[in-house]
Amino acid sequence: MSNYRCNGCGYVFNEAVGDKHEGYPPMPFMDLPEDFTCPGCGVRYKEDFNLMPPPGQ
Ligand SMILES: [Zn+2]
Repeated sequence: MSNYRCNGCGYVFNEAVGDKHEGYPPMPFMDLPEDFTCPGCGVRYKEDFNLMPPPGQ
């Protein structure tokens, strides 16, 4: 499981946790719906998120 961080606002989607507040269960980031928008800044494109290296690596 990995974390993906929004370039625009720093919001992090944790695949192992999902985002319960936004209604997303734990899931791979790439499996999020096509209409996923960043809860932090509203950016619509998953391409604007960066994969974060797992802790300890
Ligand atoms: Zn954002």
